[in-house]
Amino acid sequence: MPQPPQIRTEPLISGPITRRTVLKAGGTLLLSVLPALPAQAAQILAVRVWPADDYTRVTLENDTDLKATHFTVPDPQRLVVDIEGLELNPTLKGLVAKIQSNDPYIKQVRVGQNRPGVVRLVFDLKEEIKPQVFTLAPVGTYNHRLIFDLYPIRPADPIAAMIEKGEWSRQDAPVSPELPPHAPPATPVAPPVAATTPAPTPAPTPAPQPPAVVPEPPAVAARPEPAPAPAPGKVVRMITIALDPGHGGEDPGAIGASGAREKDLVLSIAKRLKFKLEQLPNVRVMLTRDGDYFVPLGTRVEKARKVQADLFISIHADAFLRPSARGSSVFVLSEKGATSTAARWLANKENLADSIGGINMKGHDKQLASVLLDLSTTAQINDSLKVGSAVLGEIGGIARLHKGSVEQAGFAVLKAPDIPSILIETAFISNPEEEARLKDNGYQDEIATAITKGIRRYFSKNPPLAKSRMT
Ligand SMILES: [Zn+2]
Repeated sequence: MPQPPQIRTEPLISGPITRRTVLKAGGTLLLSVLPALPAQAAQILAVRVWPADDYTRVTLENDTDLKATHFTVPDPQRLVVDIEGLELNPTLKGLVAKIQSNDPYIKQVRVGQNRPGVVRLVFDLKEEIKPQVFTLAPVGTYNHRLIFDLYPIRPADPIAAMIEKGEWSRQDAPVSPELPPHAPPATPVAPPVAATTPAPTPAPTPAPQPPAVVPEPPAVAARPEPAPAPAPGKVVRMITIALDPGHGGEDPGAIGASGAREKDLVLSIAKRLKFKLEQLPNVRVMLTRDGDYFVPLGTRVEKARKVQADLFISIHADAFLRPSARGSSVFVLSEKGATSTAARWLANKENLADSIGGINMKGHDKQLASVLLDLSTTAQINDSLKVGSAVLGEIGGIARLHKGSVEQAGFAVLKAPDIPSILIETAFISNPEEEARLKDNGYQDEIATAITKGIRRYFSKNPPLAKSRMT
């Protein structure tokens, strides 16, 4: 029977008699014998919980660097964390109410003063987990952070996850579209023709196609888009596209003057883009994140490589110190320095995501990064420039461009050595006018359509071949 979340001030786990128990037994007289607490106990400033299938993160933001020890207990599965130099306060108690019933890993949390100066958190778990407990130094607008990352023992394979969602084996069967949130009902985005539609529908709506190459789009993009013409007899393998909405969770990305957060806008655009790309024949799409949680840069690349993506598209919204900066940009990786100071500045800023989002430096990401750096990237960059130009050209048809050509810089997220990778700065969120456009459903749809056209144009000129891959 599920127990309601509760705050306990009693010792939470049976074990050695705690000082508190002694205190109770002995009465107030003992108080004077207890060692005095540090003049000022650490304060918890904020608690945040980021549940996701990948992992659930709990963040305690504090005014000082906290020391924590942890252990797991089976039957039933629990994670116990003792935090030193801390007194219970209402903010910390608020953690109890922040655990959602649909959290993949946490059933509930109990918070209590285990003994003077030590707060104990007990996470009652839904399954056995692999915890990572670490601290982060102040960065950006954050003070000290104590992080608990609860990973599943067996991480979900991205392909298995897509099969489960019905996205991997899908061939020509129309799937129920995953409509992005806030989709404008008045202008439906190219709905797939339902298999049961009785009357023959005249184009423009694309019908399910037999396996075919992605066709050449018309030279001048006309609206509505004509249905792609099949190339009979030519069987092509599925194209897998990894879409990477930037930031997420602890890392909001850039924030506009009206408060719009890059992480939310780019997720919304990426979901629209996924939907549109899936209307193309033989295309399937993997999102590196589909919710509001942080994915380290190296993990984004790793996910794309696990599904053997043919293309990696990272979606962002630019920010600059001057609110007048404007326009869309497309970036690819550079081996020999950035093509402009602004590009280098931006790459450095985007690469900060890991420290703001927060990764455990003792984790394995560093190892992955060094492996990737050793591999040649020249061919990847050449292909990326081709995709980048095609996409930039299409975006130029609907939006002002920041610069007329694809730029290059050392973006960490573009470093998959075997996957053409581009990073799109859809607009400047720091420009109030562009922030307003980015928040607009119609504009989000337009930009997703333009990117789709660019990708289609690229694949029509560079059809994917069966290729052996590095693994
Ligand atoms: Zn960004």
